Amino acid sequence: MKPLENLLRAHEGPMTSELVLRPGDFGLGRVPARLKPVSTTNTVCGFCSTGCSLRVHLDAAGQAVNLTPDPDYPVNLGMACPKGWEALAPLAAADRVTTPLLRAAGGRFAPVGWEQALRTFCGRLKHVQARHGPHSVAVLSTGQIVTEEMALLGALTKFGMGLLHLDSNTRQCMATTHVAYKESFGFDAPPFTYADFEESDVLVFIGANPCIAHPIMWQRVMSSRRQPLVIVVDPRRTETAMAAGRHYAIQPKSDLTLLYGLAHLLINRGAADEAFIRASTDGYEAFALHVRDFPPSRVCAATGLTPEELEQFAAALADREKRVSYWWTMGVNQGHESTRTAQAIINLALLTGQIGRPGTGPNSITGQCNAMGSRLYGNATSLLGGYDFADAEHRAHVARVLGLDAALIPSAKSWAYDQIVDGIESGQIRGLWVIATDPAHSWINQGRLAALRSKLEFLVVQDMYATTRTAQLADLILPAAGWGEKEGVLINSERRLGLVRKVARAPGAALSDFAIFKLIAEYWGCGKMFARWSSPEAVFQLLKELSRGQPCDFSGVRDYAHLAEARGIQWPWTEASEMAASGRAPQRQRRLFADGRFFTPRRRARFVFDHPRPMPEEPDGSYPFLLLTGRGTSAQWHTGSRTDKSAVLRKLAPRGAIIEINPVDARRLVIRAGDRVLIQSRRGEMRATAVVTPTVQAGQVFIPMHDDQVNRLTFAAFDPHSRQPSYKACAVRLKRAIQERRST
Ligand code: SF4
Repeated sequence: MKPLENLLRAHEGPMTSELVLRPGDFGLGRVPARLKPVSTTNTVCGFCSTGCSLRVHLDAAGQAVNLTPDPDYPVNLGMACPKGWEALAPLAAADRVTTPLLRAAGGRFAPVGWEQALRTFCGRLKHVQARHGPHSVAVLSTGQIVTEEMALLGALTKFGMGLLHLDSNTRQCMATTHVAYKESFGFDAPPFTYADFEESDVLVFIGANPCIAHPIMWQRVMSSRRQPLVIVVDPRRTETAMAAGRHYAIQPKSDLTLLYGLAHLLINRGAADEAFIRASTDGYEAFALHVRDFPPSRVCAATGLTPEELEQFAAALADREKRVSYWWTMGVNQGHESTRTAQAIINLALLTGQIGRPGTGPNSITGQCNAMGSRLYGNATSLLGGYDFADAEHRAHVARVLGLDAALIPSAKSWAYDQIVDGIESGQIRGLWVIATDPAHSWINQGRLAALRSKLEFLVVQDMYATTRTAQLADLILPAAGWGEKEGVLINSERRLGLVRKVARAPGAALSDFAIFKLIAEYWGCGKMFARWSSPEAVFQLLKELSRGQPCDFSGVRDYAHLAEARGIQWPWTEASEMAASGRAPQRQRRLFADGRFFTPRRRARFVFDHPRPMPEEPDGSYPFLLLTGRGTSAQWHTGSRTDKSAVLRKLAPRGAIIEINPVDARRLVIRAGDRVLIQSRRGEMRATAVVTPTVQAGQVFIPMHDDQVNRLTFAAFDPHSRQPSYKACAVRLKRAIQERRST
């Protein structure tokens, strides 16, 4: 093995960099006087899956000074949400971890060098494996790092370290869509392009609040010249619902019944596109039989809609002259029967032939900036490139491309996130490595996870901050560079590969995740296996080769420079397409399935359906309210580990936890706006400040997901197909917390 200093230099430059950024350096529109921009580079935002391009202005040393949205990028067209504008602020936070930290005998963290950190990492995890078996160490990763890092992590852990269980927080947001598309289309392939927001006559948002969660996508809807009808299906009167033409405030988790009921009405109206169904789908007859059992009487009883509302809804979808598109996100994905619900949306588009043309499609909006990269290249559920671990030919092909022995690739799938948690409880998992995520905040029923800490013999956290809840529980913290301090590719919701650039040096001894994985490979003893994985761009070339012949083929993308020139490129972009383009840039907006051919063996989409099941924890006499959770503001991102670092974003978000309560319930419980409220579920309790508002229905309450207490309450139920947690519905009770009052 080469000396550490050489390895560090090879991957990251000198180990100790000048920390140029200081707390408070960045803020909306503020340019520190001592920093003068002299050049500009473009980079893709690292928060959400929209994938906006930002122009980062650099000083003479190539360090970021400030940024502005990119006016010439086909995604954001010159716009950015508050998080994008403040994207540099988290880099300059005071609590960045700048050196590895090892928990010492007295329980406190002590700074150590990389040499000791890497030896401890490998020594302790190998010890766990030696005592409890190779699969007793698991990894929980993220949808927030670049694709090349995800792929390297997946290959390192599964092919190099001999681990089996690797999952990521993509399980919490996009697992449902992954499974739904795969079963229905034969591949995890969102069919749309963002121009469809402007090309549609009728946009149906189901369990989606883009006004808050995807503000730039929402801006594109608002700027449509077609004067579209916007329909929102959501139990809450969200900001999107307020701006929509129609809002159907259905009962929580009645969406599957509603969607089958709509299919029933569409068939009865003669709105089925029989030519498309015949030519391009399988399973229609059985589906038509299935939805016969969903007459309006049943659907209205379940959803709370009137028969007139239901008819009116179906009529809006039935008009063949109109382009109808369907959009869903976490209100669907985080449910106990989420995969079948997503597929019920897909079925409506197939039934009416609303797919493959501008302004149509069953379109899943992704959450994290690289959930799409994680779905294809995380090496968790699918083998690198969307291949199947269980298929010997697939394993042989991947091994050939990577120059590996195929025997190193496991034929079994990893446990899903919840199964890894169960494995900790049962003692089968004794070592855990957590990367760029904070499960102690974000995992469902978080109290259980915290209680399991004592069952782990060794917990490593790799993150930008040592202050996350999970980092505080760790034995070892590895300091990681963040977005903007490294390079690589993110894949956005519309399948666009976009480039992230290094615009700032990571502080102190913090290293890119890529460099950390490479060092771990060396210290673990499998470094040679990754000799070709020498830089993020070298890995990009390997991934490109792995994509060849797959639906996600991007073999026509030459390199990073090509991505930058073309302003991002959507997959597929094959070598043949590139040759045919003969030097011209790929079309900026491309959608899938225009030819009516899908990725299943018969090249036909499938109607997939099932019987609705009751909600796992209904309100009752003891816990009479239904708790809904979701994004609260466009200024906060998930657990807030980055957005809370920005003074501007903190000002734009509520201070502390809030709970939205309907005025009828508030009156009955003698709760006024600004009162502190005690909320209890069967699993835990929290306090929040009351916001009395008719946007939630009587009997329901809403708490934003960003507060670190909310998952004390949530009920751990999972969709059986995707194993995605059902965060959106559990039973709680509430009362005013006596003598506590605080305004938001
Ligand atoms: S919408 Fe998403 S990608 Fe665009 S600026 Fe905001 S957080 Fe970044």
